[in-house]
Amino acid sequence: MFYKSTRNSDIKITSAEAITQGISSDGGLFVPESIPEITFDEIEKLASMSYADRAYCIFKKYLTDFTDAEIHYCTDNAYSTKNFDTESIAEIAHLFDGTYMLELWHGPTCAFKDMALQILPYFLTVSAKKINLDKKIVILVATSGDTGKAALEGFKDVEGTQILVFYPEQGVSPMQKRQMTTQEGENVGVCAIKGNFDDCQNGVKAIFTDNDIKSELDEKSMMFSSANSINWGRLVPQIVYYVSSYASLVSDGEINMGDKINIVVPTGNFGNILAAYYAKYMGVPINKLICASNVNNVLTDFINTGIYDRNRTFYATCSPSMDILISSNLERLLYIITGEDDSKIKEWFGSLAETGRYEVTDDVKSVLKSEFYAGFCDDEDTKKTIHDIYEKYSYTCDTHTAVAVKVYQDYRNETGDTTKTIIASTASPYKFSASVLEAIEGSKSELDEYDMIDKLNELSKLEVPESLAKLKTSERRFSDSIEKSDMKNYVLKNLGA
Ligand SMILES: *Cc1c(COP(=O)(O)O)cnc(C)c1O
Repeated sequence: MFYKSTRNSDIKITSAEAITQGISSDGGLFVPESIPEITFDEIEKLASMSYADRAYCIFKKYLTDFTDAEIHYCTDNAYSTKNFDTESIAEIAHLFDGTYMLELWHGPTCAFKDMALQILPYFLTVSAKKINLDKKIVILVATSGDTGKAALEGFKDVEGTQILVFYPEQGVSPMQKRQMTTQEGENVGVCAIKGNFDDCQNGVKAIFTDNDIKSELDEKSMMFSSANSINWGRLVPQIVYYVSSYASLVSDGEINMGDKINIVVPTGNFGNILAAYYAKYMGVPINKLICASNVNNVLTDFINTGIYDRNRTFYATCSPSMDILISSNLERLLYIITGEDDSKIKEWFGSLAETGRYEVTDDVKSVLKSEFYAGFCDDEDTKKTIHDIYEKYSYTCDTHTAVAVKVYQDYRNETGDTTKTIIASTASPYKFSASVLEAIEGSKSELDEYDMIDKLNELSKLEVPESLAKLKTSERRFSDSIEKSDMKNYVLKNLGA
């Protein structure tokens, strides 16, 4: 299996090369040359395996240049109870009849990003070794809150790597900020940007493709790579839990092999839902992919009209990890849907960079409409949904997951479709305690963040993740805050260049 760039179909590189490079030098994203198949037989067999072994079976189809031992080394290190607080790694909870919550937040930082970022450092260091790269790998991360912490935890003290994280100063929750600024490890750095997530992401992308910086790094025997979901090594681990959860529902007798299910994903950068799309095209019986946004509803409009237009007001919401106006991974989806038309992709994403807007062809519009349903939900409905499902089903969910639940309810009311459905639950409610508590109690809490956690524990009866509880006494290590125009200099200074 080789990989090519969405902006140049002639590129042909191995997965190890795609993972170490992160993004293609033409600005495109790496994609596999074809989507491998998984048979019902294979899915059935997954059910009796550990999560690590299920992951191995999927990776074997995509990372064909890795040896069996290399893949096992990665999966065994990443997916164990050393890092996750549940044996199943990804837990499935019943919400109501035929509706399941796929809890992807049992990892060390309490958000679904751990599912990929616990394994990415292993993929990266193994890949670098495979292609005889003896350079230090410098990871630059733009984060809307959860990726940053998950990447820091994944990469801390991993030999041969250094990591620098940029987050929007006003765009993350107090708990997310505290998680990042107290990060331990000798090879880590964290810096606030006076701007929003898109500013952080554009800054990082510009640095990745800056030839001056590249040659400076070359001289120091360093190279950049990315831990954002533009890296294929981030995306492929996310395919696993969709295949795996289907296998679990079959073996639990909830569905029969071959029954179609819907999948609902609270979406920002389009990485998580794209992984579900890959699972579908591998052969998992999936009916609708339901794309749920908050009021930054650029994706809702895009899927419904075929016009992507980021020229709109940016809102800071109570689901901050979805406060995104440029969804990078759409590029991969459109590459597939257009039949790998790299010139169209170049045209559209060039136009996005220049004017903030592009419009796809009628053919693409009709595919988008048949594959996806898209909706959005504001903060008021998000909180109402948290309240309602707490009261009705004694289930406590975070703000991002609540957006997905609400959009799913809208979908069901609008279409009458009662197909069994998996809702991706992307964060622990404790990670957004203030909003969740406000939603359940009906008014803003006066308590401090840590007392809120205790209060939420009382109400939800959910165990408090140790990683959050211990933040109360952790020492703050990082306090830098810079203008977005200073990112390049900041990176050079930090790398000693
Ligand atoms: C990152 C994140 C999302 C959005 O996922 P994408 O892959 O960017 O679409 C949703 N919820 C939470 C809690 C997240 O951290």
